[in-house]
Amino acid sequence: MEFASKCLHSGYEPQNGEPGALPIIQSTTFKYDSTADVAALFDLQASGFFYSRLANPTVDYVEQKLAALEGGVGAICTSSGHAANFIALMNLCRAGDHIVACSKLYGGTINLLAVTLKRFGIEVTFIDQDLPNEDLTQYFRPNTKALVGETIANPSTDVLDIERMAALAHSQGVPLIIDNTFATPYLCRPIEFGADIVVHSTTKYLDGHAVGVGGCVIDAGKFDWAAHQDKFPEFSSPDESYHGCVYTEAFGNAAYIVKARVQLIRDLGCLQSPQNAFYLNLGLETLPLRMQQYCQNAQVIAEFLAQHAKVERISYPGLAYSPDHERAQKYLPLGCSGVMTFVLKGGRDAGVRFIDSLKLIRLEVHVSDIKSSVLHPASSSHRQLTDEQLKASGIEAGSVRLSVGLEDISDLIADLEQALAQV
Ligand SMILES: *Cc1c(COP(=O)(O)O)cnc(C)c1O
Repeated sequence: MEFASKCLHSGYEPQNGEPGALPIIQSTTFKYDSTADVAALFDLQASGFFYSRLANPTVDYVEQKLAALEGGVGAICTSSGHAANFIALMNLCRAGDHIVACSKLYGGTINLLAVTLKRFGIEVTFIDQDLPNEDLTQYFRPNTKALVGETIANPSTDVLDIERMAALAHSQGVPLIIDNTFATPYLCRPIEFGADIVVHSTTKYLDGHAVGVGGCVIDAGKFDWAAHQDKFPEFSSPDESYHGCVYTEAFGNAAYIVKARVQLIRDLGCLQSPQNAFYLNLGLETLPLRMQQYCQNAQVIAEFLAQHAKVERISYPGLAYSPDHERAQKYLPLGCSGVMTFVLKGGRDAGVRFIDSLKLIRLEVHVSDIKSSVLHPASSSHRQLTDEQLKASGIEAGSVRLSVGLEDISDLIADLEQALAQV
């Protein structure tokens, strides 16, 4: 099937007389006839559902669809994007380990890596992803377990050279984890460029309607864990919590995603709920149509802002003069998604006046909503910083993050025009 057909038909395939829409199996438990049946499930010798902390049929169908869309061998839907990033990394790391991460990342992920993982005894080195690979190999250590990056960084909109990052990770014997939230598999499928694990905040474009917080982890099934037994012994040696199961032998190229579920989802309990998986599935059904319109609206708005007298500069990889434009043509040939960051000439006051003057575009601490939204970091998430401190953190007093929605383009331009006139 082609991508749009997979969005509609992968995962749940109703049999004769069954419901056409994905059923919500709102049940924590599943009934069995014999102790032998349940024992086989607990020993991972049979597949099936027994408790919705580990797996649930509704969630499972959506996981199958996500794996199909990204080109992976399996997926897990989590309760949030953060949970997805955490599970993806903790399936590889333990106290004493090290991670290399691109510095252009979502702020929440930087905090997860630099503050929370540190408390778990895991160290992270942030690298300048634009340096050549020869200069980046020095940051890898014998205990490094992963390289992490984002296809389109939130909020800088930098586009990652995924193929080069995959070569770097693999030369160091570690998997590449890509957060593909802003691109979605419609615009870019990182596995096709060598990524080993893909994560999403499904809260954003995949759900697409701002109704459910969620995340997912997708396994490409390509990393050879057994060949890197020294770094990743847990994949190819017996797990005593499952009577000596060896994941690479029992589950082949799905070893990573099965281990993540049966160890971490079991013990941390952050599976997505069936209700939220149902909402996510509704969003996935229209993903291609929505992404086409997001890209189209955002391109027009980026070009409008780029030539506006009150705008100092704008970051959007779809603009021909963007430093990331060439990379975007390779990795995002269908469009550059809906988020852009621009700087107003008048600094902090201009930012506040602009945001407060908008009538249609909403002030929200969110991105990738179906409705257009803005955030002014200097007066919200970064309001405690001075202008100098803001600059040091890569944000300016007049920076505005705009997430373009699916309203009629003429209404969006009119709203931007009238608010810019107030600045
Ligand atoms: C929002 C976001 C996250 C975190 O996801 P939640 O669903 O809010 O937990 C992670 N990565 C990126 C790129 C995001 O935009």
